[in-house]
Amino acid sequence: MRLNDPIDGLPGLKMARPGAMAGLGLTTVADLLWHLPRRHEDRRAFRPIASVAEGETAILNGTIERVRLARIRGRRGYTSAVVADQSGRIELRWWNMPWLAKSLETGMELVLYGKVKDGRITQPEYEIVRGEDSLHVGRIVPVYPLTKGVTGPGLRRAMYVALHEVEETMPDPLPESVRERRALPELTQALNDIHFPADRKSLEEAKRRLRYDELFLFQLAVALQRRRARSQPGVQHRWSEELDERICARLPFRLTRAQERVVREIRDDLCATAPMNRLLQGDVGSGKTAVALYAALVSIANRRQVALLAPTEVLARQHRATMARMLEGSDVRIEVLVGSTKAADRRKRLAALAAGDVDLIVGTHALLEPEVEFERLGLVVVDEQHKFGVRQRAKLIRKGVRPDVLVMTATPIPRSLALTAFGDLDVSVIDEFPPGRRPPETKVLAARSRGIAYRTVRGEAEAGRQSYVIFPLVEDSDEIDAASAQQGFSVLAEVLSGLNVGLVTGRTPGAERDAIMDGFRAGTVDVLVGTTVLEVGVDVPNASVIVIENAERFGLSTLHQLRGRVGRGGTDSYCFLVAKKLSADAKARLGIMEESSDGFRIAEEDLRLRGPGEFFGTRQHGLPEFRVADLVRDQDVLRRAREDAFDLLEREPRLARYASLRAELVRRFAGRFDLYDIG
Ligand code: ADP
Ligand code: MG
Repeated sequence: MRLNDPIDGLPGLKMARPGAMAGLGLTTVADLLWHLPRRHEDRRAFRPIASVAEGETAILNGTIERVRLARIRGRRGYTSAVVADQSGRIELRWWNMPWLAKSLETGMELVLYGKVKDGRITQPEYEIVRGEDSLHVGRIVPVYPLTKGVTGPGLRRAMYVALHEVEETMPDPLPESVRERRALPELTQALNDIHFPADRKSLEEAKRRLRYDELFLFQLAVALQRRRARSQPGVQHRWSEELDERICARLPFRLTRAQERVVREIRDDLCATAPMNRLLQGDVGSGKTAVALYAALVSIANRRQVALLAPTEVLARQHRATMARMLEGSDVRIEVLVGSTKAADRRKRLAALAAGDVDLIVGTHALLEPEVEFERLGLVVVDEQHKFGVRQRAKLIRKGVRPDVLVMTATPIPRSLALTAFGDLDVSVIDEFPPGRRPPETKVLAARSRGIAYRTVRGEAEAGRQSYVIFPLVEDSDEIDAASAQQGFSVLAEVLSGLNVGLVTGRTPGAERDAIMDGFRAGTVDVLVGTTVLEVGVDVPNASVIVIENAERFGLSTLHQLRGRVGRGGTDSYCFLVAKKLSADAKARLGIMEESSDGFRIAEEDLRLRGPGEFFGTRQHGLPEFRVADLVRDQDVLRRAREDAFDLLEREPRLARYASLRAELVRRFAGRFDLYDIG
């Protein structure tokens, strides 16, 4: 039997409902072997029969004193047996298994596992002691995810047979050198032990090996991807001190040290032969826009075109406005392209873009459409990259010939996730704020105390400053979302009577939204009410208060992002987190926001509390599903696995000597990574 053989014929599964195994996603022997136990149950310690009380579950070991087949009115029958040890005896009953009465005999030794009810054990798991391997009792027993028609004992039996069938022939994909360096057990050993461990220690060792495998193989795929992306030359930009001076003269401020460092990293990439593929992380307000503009101007000085992709029209327009201001009087031609751009304008801009008459185009998803063509795309910048999928990014990138790529995110990403979801990218971090930023004072409020928040809103408005009020975005439901903001808005208009309150949701028509946003920017709108549309990148330094309603519904990272909207003006600023239901849980979670303004610390907490899948809050996160590894717990393992994977490829770029490793990579990641370099 081989790994790719179907599992149909395995004993234990013979009686399984046809198709039942497929329901668990299992068709081949390999699938079966990697169907790992949900947990293990220690069924080693036998209890004296007399000591087990009613309602207890226990493992017993005894000799059969008698067996009989009982019938109730000649129809449904059960097998009854009495088992005794030195302390006492107990009756066992099995319904619907009449053949048992024949296979069990007086004098046989049994180990059994079950719950005592009404003085007897019904339907115990049992095994006849014959001096061979025991699967269900008297050992640490695997407990599997099951489905209708597949029983625990049946699956154990099948697993046991499958393990023994492949033991001799199964290759170990992990290179010997790596296995030895990390002192890991062999694969067959590990698989055997993860299913049927002799003791806790071998179970732990088995997990250690399989955990390592998952992370190592994933990082190897990532490393291959990365090598491939850099194997062909991209755009090679030129940079000079003189250009640097010209660009810096355009900025209305001196770059912070962190910005300077990041600019250097990007500049080196721009000038290198291999295409840049870099992730720029920087908290909200850390000044990523200036860095993006710097990169854009280097590319434009090289007679290249630059595309800046933003997730919303609001943001695209804001970027365009900010950049146009800094570029005033220069000959850089900058345009915007969004969904609501009028047809005639769109045609004109597309033509100019294709002719090379636009240097910098700022836009939304509208940039991804096939009609959008560039003459010589040199750099793609993606702002708030998590709002876009890998495919969407690729669409834009393919409009050039291997342009340099800079993706930016304001969500500080814990390192373990960054190495996994963005493992093939280089990472730059802006870890310092521009001068004058003071973290907002943050307060968690129960709903009934929200008056405190709105008094502050009014007070700040009287001092000439502005506020945001945010209602949560209900996943996949614009409707409810807009409704809750709408409703909140009506209430607020009263609570804040006398102030100019504007509402923007995902459904506000473009023209109206622009008018309100412009009003807020200009200071004529005192309070901006909205949904998380506002989450991304609105920059109004005069805003000093943010009130977040139903804050318990947001992830910490999102709250942190939202909070970053205020505290930009050099005055005191405030963030109120209003929780509808302030459970102890919510209180502890939101309390972290009161304590800390460090984005990375908050991100780590968020990851710990919600897990990797939820962290990004979107399906486009690019994280694989690990079965044994845990990105929160196994950060050290991840680092070692990554080191080993990159090392190995350095020595063996095509993995020529590692056929089974290549096969395993293909088995796991064929649909996900381009693996044809090795396939
Ligand atoms: P991000 O996009 O990273 O959230 P922005 O690029 O919008 O942040 O910058 C936030 C604010 O800080 C903007 O008002 C910007 O003009 C200002 N800013 C950026 N860099 C500096 C700097 N080096 N010195 C002073 N102000 C800066
Ligand atoms: Mg930004």
